[in-house]
Amino acid sequence: MSTVLYPSPIFGPVHSRRLGVSLGINLMPNDGKLCSFDCIYCECGFNKDFRTSTRRPSREEVRRALENVLQKMTSDGILPDVLTFAGNGEPTAHPQFKEIIEDTIALRDAYCPNSHVSVLTNATFISRQNVFDALMKVDNNILKLDTADDAYIKLVNRPASTDYTVQGQVANMKKFNGHCIIQTMFMKGIFNGKDVNNVKPEYIEPWLRAVAEIKPRQVMIYTIDRETPDKELRKASKEELDDIVRQIESLGIRATASY
Ligand code: SF4
Repeated sequence: MSTVLYPSPIFGPVHSRRLGVSLGINLMPNDGKLCSFDCIYCECGFNKDFRTSTRRPSREEVRRALENVLQKMTSDGILPDVLTFAGNGEPTAHPQFKEIIEDTIALRDAYCPNSHVSVLTNATFISRQNVFDALMKVDNNILKLDTADDAYIKLVNRPASTDYTVQGQVANMKKFNGHCIIQTMFMKGIFNGKDVNNVKPEYIEPWLRAVAEIKPRQVMIYTIDRETPDKELRKASKEELDDIVRQIESLGIRATASY
């Protein structure tokens, strides 16, 4: 299985398809994965294969490591376009997420004021006030919504919480009042004998209605890039992604696709 676990708490800089030159901040341990989803396409692998007993890095460890890297990058004359919270699982699950965001914004302002702070999140904790408040402070609040279909989410994203509903998520995403970007994975293939093609109109149409309701400032769609833990998954085509981009733009919402 060719999956990727990221160093912790800082990795990169790496060139991201979606975000430019990105310095990664991984709030999970570096020897395993901690996520409230268990997506069948996750580049870190299935949760069960990457259990960890190591603790998450503390707020102070993250702050110190980030400052060290930014000092080095400053002396090398290369600064990141973006500081990206991502890595081996769900960043907003960290108990000190809000304080870590505040530290990161302070370090960004001190060392690289032109860089943006981005958070890639599966959005499962946005109903928590401190997570919501922290995400309101970052430049790019990037929320995952792969379909508007609860059965598909259960099959493909596999939330740990049995309380997860698309309706509840959309209601919470609307509270950002446009201060959010929706990220959606489009793919094809089979998982456990079931078709997971979400490029079909029966998935696209309700998803577009949900996007129209949320009114994000942007939508980022993408498809499988690296090897996935399930071997039966396939990329959506460039033509299919471009067609979806056009449908989003017809709602008056900016959209980008990564192939
Ligand atoms: S939300 Fe992200 S980190 Fe979590 S399982 Fe899905 S792809 Fe992996």
